[in-house]
Amino acid sequence: MYRKLIRYSNKIFNLFSTIASITDKRLKPQIATVKITAAIIVMQLANLGSLNSLSQAISFKKLKKDIPSVSTIARSADSLNLEGIRGVVKEIYQKARKSKMLSAYCGMWVGIVDGHEQITTPYCKCGHCKSRIVTKKGGVKEVQYYHEFTAFILAGPKISFILDIEPILPGEGEISSAYRLMERVLGNYPKAFSVVIGDGLYLKETVFNLLKRHHKYSIAVLKEERRQLFEEANSLLLLSEPKTYKQKKTYYRVWDHQISGCWDGYGKRVRVITSEETTPGRVHSKDGKSFEDTVDKANWMWVTNLPCPKTDDLKNTVSICHCRWQIENQCFNETVNTWKADHIYRHSKNAIIAFLLLLFIVVNIFNIFRIRNIKDKSIKTKIYLINLIKSGFHATSNPLSPIPPIPI
Ligand SMILES: [Zn+2]
Repeated sequence: MYRKLIRYSNKIFNLFSTIASITDKRLKPQIATVKITAAIIVMQLANLGSLNSLSQAISFKKLKKDIPSVSTIARSADSLNLEGIRGVVKEIYQKARKSKMLSAYCGMWVGIVDGHEQITTPYCKCGHCKSRIVTKKGGVKEVQYYHEFTAFILAGPKISFILDIEPILPGEGEISSAYRLMERVLGNYPKAFSVVIGDGLYLKETVFNLLKRHHKYSIAVLKEERRQLFEEANSLLLLSEPKTYKQKKTYYRVWDHQISGCWDGYGKRVRVITSEETTPGRVHSKDGKSFEDTVDKANWMWVTNLPCPKTDDLKNTVSICHCRWQIENQCFNETVNTWKADHIYRHSKNAIIAFLLLLFIVVNIFNIFRIRNIKDKSIKTKIYLINLIKSGFHATSNPLSPIPPIPI
């Protein structure tokens, strides 16, 4: 499976030729940058989890001369050109989109933006380390350092595609980083999506106006802190009947109100969508002998400048608003739990982002490969497929042989 994925990456996405465009700033490099990036991609694709694991596996196979040393990879990662790596992400996206490997979500191309804390460490080693005081057991206070970033992904019914990330720098909040990220994504991917979703933090006129200037709509979660809009929407709930429907096991009561004059700074009319969701279920009773009926209730409110839907579209709009979870599950949680995205391969501000962007290239290709190329119905979970790839890497005598000659 490892060889199959390497061949797929190269045949469909030209991966090992495309990465030859990435450069670094070493003054007198003895090893070409493409060998560094190829080694990192092999390590991530085989899910090895650390540079030392790669080095160990490669020396066991007596291929040490064919791959750069751990210290060379680490040193080069300090100055790998991030824009070059982002260019590779873009080429893969363009190929995937052109070949219809990606699909719209409920009829719309949807971008999702959010912030994430990636790593914590007791050591401050770079200019992007943020710090906080944590109280340990016994009341001992300690300084903890951590890195955060914002991410932008494209939602999809089967595949969500990670487009870009941006660090959240010390002394700044999530929105400042997200603003830079969105400006860059809007420039690099002007036609990739028509609406962007964020959580309550993104209910800001600067965000709505930035997206509007690029002809994109916005959706943001409405929280109680935005008193005026929140109270107005709540008072309107009492005056009108919701639209009701059932989707899968959940019963929905949805209100859609147009509100103006309640958001200082934005000044335009917005829609507030409120969804009251009830899902009946069954759980084992405490004695373990029978079942108990349960009812899960959730209330959601979103603000959007999407145009008013035709009569049947509200259901779709609510589904689109809900797809924000994809960034939590498929970008943040899954890449940490199954791809070890929280591992510090090299602690420098450039290397941390470089390793993550290269990982996301691998994750994007893997997700497309899994949906489109795995016909074997007995391979059901991503983790099982990753294990097959990893064991394929260890079983092959030369894991570098499926990689085509690298243009230098
Ligand atoms: Zn740091």
